[in-house]
Amino acid sequence: MFRVRFAPSPTGYLHIGSARTFIFNWLFARRHDGTMILRIDDTDAGRNTQTSEDSIFDGLRWLGLDWDEQYRQSERLDLHATLASKIFEAGHAYRDFTPAEEAAEKAHATGAATWLCNPDMRELPREESDRRAAAGEPFVLRFRVPREPVRDITFTDEVYGAQSKSTADIEDFALLRSNGLPTYHMASCADDADLRISHIIRGQDHLTNTFKHILIFDALGATAPRFAHLPLLIAPDGAKLSKRKHGPVVSVTTYRDAGFLPEAYINFLCLLGWNPKDDREKMSINEIAAIFSFEGINRSNAVVNFSDEDPIDPKALWLNSQHLYALPVDTLASRLEPWAAGAGWSPAPGQLLQIAPLIRERMKTFRDFASVADFFFLEPLPPFDPAELVPQKGDTAMAAKVLERAKTVLAAAEFTHDGLDQALRAAAAEIGVKAGQMFQPIRVAACGRKVAPPLFETLAVLGRELTLVRLDRALAMLRS
Ligand code: GLU
Repeated sequence: MFRVRFAPSPTGYLHIGSARTFIFNWLFARRHDGTMILRIDDTDAGRNTQTSEDSIFDGLRWLGLDWDEQYRQSERLDLHATLASKIFEAGHAYRDFTPAEEAAEKAHATGAATWLCNPDMRELPREESDRRAAAGEPFVLRFRVPREPVRDITFTDEVYGAQSKSTADIEDFALLRSNGLPTYHMASCADDADLRISHIIRGQDHLTNTFKHILIFDALGATAPRFAHLPLLIAPDGAKLSKRKHGPVVSVTTYRDAGFLPEAYINFLCLLGWNPKDDREKMSINEIAAIFSFEGINRSNAVVNFSDEDPIDPKALWLNSQHLYALPVDTLASRLEPWAAGAGWSPAPGQLLQIAPLIRERMKTFRDFASVADFFFLEPLPPFDPAELVPQKGDTAMAAKVLERAKTVLAAAEFTHDGLDQALRAAAAEIGVKAGQMFQPIRVAACGRKVAPPLFETLAVLGRELTLVRLDRALAMLRS
């Protein structure tokens, strides 16, 4: 039975890369009828914030994907301590009493990259170690990385293939800090072993940690899970995405607030580093879950495109418009509700259902809703240039004639697509103008702009009363 976990640390907001890690874990779990676990890695009390944790949950809720089990590392500290002591008792760890400042100096003197251990601490006799600990002297518990002889730690990554690192290149890393709290390595492996995680799917930046983790699993007598590391997400200039450098692009909420459909954002994230091996791009999460496999994951870093002017990737925007277009009208209408409310509008019952099909092609994201659909709700319309009322190759007198005629005709016409179509085409013929010359003044009068959804459907939604009020107002503008 496959068991996977997504293990965010609540030290920042939900990062685009973390969201993708979550989704890939979810896909793998669902593909194999496995178990998806959410584990909050909150052992670093100094860096955790409630705001960060809230933003992680907000982001996950917005994505709308579920999980089966949930844990919090800070509630499992006893387990971490017990397993650390098991490693110690088995001789795979030792106490390092070097005071923090001195340790930093030594590491500095050696060059932090080549520091391996403090030999006098590594070789400290057990009795002396016990005596100093009993006397309350603070210590860091360090893993005793095998050195004589050194050996290669190897594993086969599901994405990156065969991996190997000599223990000569791994320092005696800490399992417990001097305050007794577990390090990430200790807490993570203890939990992964205890929760019987079968596959660890996480960012490629953790690949080098994996050698240490394998040492810990071995020392615990546990079978190491399988590992799948995911390619990094990078900026167009090749730099790793970071909040400090790239600002809002890295936050999931930027896309949410830009009016993305979560299903489109998920689709976009899946294509960052994975592909279905056919030409499909627009896919639902269930379609992806049906075929998701590690073989589809690329080793090369995935570029998120954005610029200083626009934090949104154009591919994401395109996918969003595809997903918007594919939504059933009633779903679209109900998803528009919060955006209408956000714009301060109170649609009449059923009104969004009428508007949704008229505007869906004009929106790339829900954020466009306010500018695309405002004329359905704003009365009077925002000011516009009366020159817009005058059709190309027309004159003001013609526009006035059109609007006069339209007023008469629309006072009696049936306000349906066909009713309006017939009435307005007949009116155009009567006064000797082309259909386009007839429609433009009416469209601008009714919508306040030349580019708007199809005229007859739009008028049908606006209704006779409001349309006539707006025609009158436009006529007054033309005459003044
Ligand atoms: N809490 C760790 C992080 O956020 C988890 C890494 C892992 O998946 O092991 O980076």
